[in-house]
Amino acid sequence: MALQGKKIWLDGEMVDWDKAQVHVLTHALHYGTGYFEGIRCYALDDGRSAVFRLDEHVRRLFDSGKILGFPLPYPFDRVKSAIMDVVRANGLKECYIRPVAFLGLGEMGLYAPDNPVHLAIAAWSWGAYLGDEGIKNGIRAKVSSYTRHHVNVMMTKSKVSGNYINSVLAKTEVKKAGYDEAIMLDTEGYVAEASGENIFMVRDQRVKTTPPTSILPGITRDSLLTVARDKGYQVTEERFTRDELYTADEAFFTGTAAEVTPIREVDNRKIGERCPGPATQDLQQTFFNIIKGKDAKYARWLAYL
Ligand SMILES: *Cc1c(COP(=O)(O)O)cnc(C)c1O
Repeated sequence: MALQGKKIWLDGEMVDWDKAQVHVLTHALHYGTGYFEGIRCYALDDGRSAVFRLDEHVRRLFDSGKILGFPLPYPFDRVKSAIMDVVRANGLKECYIRPVAFLGLGEMGLYAPDNPVHLAIAAWSWGAYLGDEGIKNGIRAKVSSYTRHHVNVMMTKSKVSGNYINSVLAKTEVKKAGYDEAIMLDTEGYVAEASGENIFMVRDQRVKTTPPTSILPGITRDSLLTVARDKGYQVTEERFTRDELYTADEAFFTGTAAEVTPIREVDNRKIGERCPGPATQDLQQTFFNIIKGKDAKYARWLAYL
C-alpha cells in the first residue's frame, strides 16, 4: 500500500503530498548524496502529543550535513519548527517523521559543490517497525554475510543515504532466509549493530552495547544507556563477539523505528531462558513510560506539540 498523507514540507513551504516531487537527475538519486533522520511523535496519556528527543535528532541532522560537506541551509530552530508544523499539518497525534536533505539538480559529476541542498520533511502513521509481536515476544535475528562499514570507508556517524545500501543488502539477505532482522559484524568481526538498529546484550545483570565506532550512534541507544545507568544497572560500551551474543542472557535492539525490540534468537540459537528477559522487560517498560509522558524524570526528552 502506498504511503499517503496530506502535506510535506519542502524547501520552506508546506506542499500537497502528491506535489512533493524531484527531477530524475537529482544528484542524490544517483550517488546517495542525501542524509536523513527518523523521529517519532507520540500521543501522550494526557491527550497531548510530543516529539521524542527533537533537539538531538535535529542536531544529528546538522551533524550529518557537516560531515558530508553539504550542510543544511537553514537555522536550527527553523528546522525544529518545520518538523512540528508537518505533524500538525497532517493532523497526526502519533507518527514517524522523516526529514531528508539531498543534493539536487545541477552538476551530474561527483564533484557538485554548487548543487542545491534541498530539505523535505514528511510524516506518517507507522506502527512497530519489527511488529507488535516482535516488541512483545522478541524477534529472530541472523548475522549477515555483509560486513558493517569500516570507519574510513563510510562516515558512520552520518545518517547518509548512501550508507544504507549496506543495510538493504543485509536486511534483504536475512529476510529472504526467513529471519526478521540482520546483525552486522564490523570489519574485525565484532558485533556492530543491526541494519537500522543498535544492539544491546545482558549477561549476569551486566548491560553491554557496542562502542560508537562503526555504528550509527542512536538516540534510542543513548536513551537506553541513560535509563539503565539511572536504574543502577552496570553498563558498559564495549566490543563483544558473535559467540558472546549466543550465550547472552538477554539481547535487544534499539532504534527510533524499532523502539526497544527483544531478540529471541540469533542464528537459530535461543537467547536466554525466556524472552523478553527481566532486564529487557524493565528497560523496555521504562522506555515506553517515558515516551508516553508517564515518567516526569525524563520530561526533558519530550517536545510538546
Ligand atoms: C537510525 C539508525 C539507528 C538508530 O538510531 P536512533 O537514533 O535510535 O533512531 C541505528 N543504526 C542505524 C544504522 C541507523 O540508521
